[in-house]
Amino acid sequence: MEEDTRVARTIELSDGTRMPLLGLGTWKSSHLARTSIQGAVEAAIAAGYRHIDTAYSYRNEADIGRALRSKMQQGVIRRQDMFIVSKLWCTHHAPEDIPLCLEKSLSNLQLDYLDLYLVHFPVGLKKVGDELFPTKDGELLTTDIDYLDVWRGMEALQASGKVRSIGVSNFNVLQLERLLALSRVPPAVNQVELHPYLAQTELVEFCKSKNIALTACSPFGSPARPPELHRGDTDPEKLLEEPVIGNIARRQRRSPAQVLLRYHVQQGVSVIPKSDKPHHILENTKIFDFSLTDDEVAALRGLDRGWKACVLDQLKTHPYYPFE
Ligand code: NDP
Repeated sequence: MEEDTRVARTIELSDGTRMPLLGLGTWKSSHLARTSIQGAVEAAIAAGYRHIDTAYSYRNEADIGRALRSKMQQGVIRRQDMFIVSKLWCTHHAPEDIPLCLEKSLSNLQLDYLDLYLVHFPVGLKKVGDELFPTKDGELLTTDIDYLDVWRGMEALQASGKVRSIGVSNFNVLQLERLLALSRVPPAVNQVELHPYLAQTELVEFCKSKNIALTACSPFGSPARPPELHRGDTDPEKLLEEPVIGNIARRQRRSPAQVLLRYHVQQGVSVIPKSDKPHHILENTKIFDFSLTDDEVAALRGLDRGWKACVLDQLKTHPYYPFE
């Protein structure tokens, strides 16, 4: 009998919508061929993924839109079967730019609504043409736009019906507390880097206590992140080669990647591994038919060392920088 690889496991968000726990990450460094993203999304849909994570800043939404259109035309999926996530980029934090950024994403994705729209990062950047990281004399050009004002723009987008759920990404506890205290709509999701080397226990517990769902990005420690995000000698971590994870994988007869993904979904945390290899895309779906034991979870928790793959060091001095 052919194995059913459909991944139908979902969690309910605070606004009542449901989000599949497993999604496909699509962030690619720009030197890689963009056409492979269309193929990756098509392979993911064929393998049963119904949640795709993208962002305005990934510059790949048009390729993802083509994949979605093609699978819809083939009758493999309907729009309502999919959970599509995109993110408002930092150069579009001004009130008039917030709907513009969404419109560009919708147009590229060939969609008339998003399931979830996230504020990508709490720090604003100046709008200079369509540059993603505008600089002057080597320094990033930031703004002092308050993320609370950005959030009001997100609330308006939700009221317009063009996004079903709204949330944030890379927000810390203090920022979430302020948002919750001073906003009408609470964020449904906080998407942050999470894996055994970066447990972020306080943030995770806080989000759970406030019914903010977590999405774990970079679940493998983002091994293919762009070189500017590596930190030389202080950056030696290779999560997929971690011996503790390898031992658990051998015991469970799974791959280290599957152990890392299972770790999140077992805790009700959604996870968005990126891959453009069909065999990895398929392998990463096979995480709902085994369980990690309490001892294995404890061993994974014991690996925490506060190591973060993706930091934006250049923004460290900005008052809204979230990672210190
Ligand atoms: P991941 O931690 O998901 O790692 C991706 C890497 O792992 C790729 O090199 C991939 O290679 C490899 N890989 C995938 N599956 C397997 C497997 N089964 N076995 C071995 N290697 C595997 O990195 P990302 O940083 O891309 O994070 C995932 C997603 O999270 C992003 O794509 C993006 O959507 C989101 N994200 C969001 C951020 C935010 O600020 N909100 C920040 C960073 C990421 P290959 O392609 O060859 O399979």
